[in-house]
Amino acid sequence: QAKQDGRARYAFYEAHLDAALAERMELERELAEAIRGNQLVLHYQPIVDAATGVVRAVEALVRWQHPTRGLLYPGAFIQVAEESGQIRELGAWTLEAACQQLSRWKSQGRHPGSVAVNLSASHFRDQRLPEQLHELIQVHALAPGELTIELTESTVMSDSEASMKTIHALRDLGIELAVDDFGTGYSSLAYLKLLRPKKLKIDRSFVRDVPGDHDDCVLVRAVLGLAHALDIEVVAEGVETEVQRQFLLGEACTLQQGYLYSKPIPAHDLALRLNAWP
Ligand code: C2E
Ligand code: MG
Ligand code: MG
Ligand code: MG
Repeated sequence: QAKQDGRARYAFYEAHLDAALAERMELERELAEAIRGNQLVLHYQPIVDAATGVVRAVEALVRWQHPTRGLLYPGAFIQVAEESGQIRELGAWTLEAACQQLSRWKSQGRHPGSVAVNLSASHFRDQRLPEQLHELIQVHALAPGELTIELTESTVMSDSEASMKTIHALRDLGIELAVDDFGTGYSSLAYLKLLRPKKLKIDRSFVRDVPGDHDDCVLVRAVLGLAHALDIEVVAEGVETEVQRQFLLGEACTLQQGYLYSKPIPAHDLALRLNAWP
């Protein structure tokens, strides 16, 4: 009887594993189709000068218009793309789409300052990346400073030699780097010194509870002091309330991003918020 129970249970698990695996493989297949077949779309979220309300940059955030499941957010598919080896292709699509959009805005006399694209670690270490970026800038007639690459802290630490090559190549090209989600990874002074990013973005988990949470206030101030000393611009992520805005402004953190200003929105909607060139 025990043996039979065991066998039944095993068959039950096996069926579940099969189902999960099949679902996963289906998602990978669909994602490949999505990347090639126009189902991906970028939404843009402004990075605002909180003192004036002027849009200083926009961040491109990918979404998947799934044929049956509706609009999917990166949390539902970026990891799958990473694990299935499709992340470079997705990244290449994102870069192309963002540069094309920026060039379209410019031709319409609207200018968001610069466009920021999130790249995964493995794509960043790809030695062909600098060449791809160089080409993109040429094709879309962008100034290198109009494109920012956002990296999370762990990205560069994970393979510093390949990453260093990319960092130097991008620096030579004049493309700017921003450290995303600052404070959540292995932040270190050495890392900032190495990367010398143009910007660092304070993760929204540190912004959420200011000014009420004393520790978070101290942390935000410390990051601002550090960045200032190293001549790095700071963006506060996840600003949702007027109280947060005021606190950050009081700490001289003028660049802010969050739902208080705008959620990520389609390119057409964002264009309405942009000031006329220059
Ligand atoms: P991230 O780069 O840190 O982007 C910020 C995320 O915070 C976005 O989520 C944005 O919608 C959300 N957010 C912005 N303001 C607020 C706010 O005030 N409150 C709250 N609660 N959330 C806010 P999203 O679009 O779901 O993207 C999640 C992550 O997925 C991004 O984090 C980024 O790491 C990654 N991602 C997005 N697009 C791409 C892409 O094209 N390629 C790669 N490799 N990763 C991407
Ligand atoms: Mg980002
Ligand atoms: Mg972030
Ligand atoms: Mg984040």
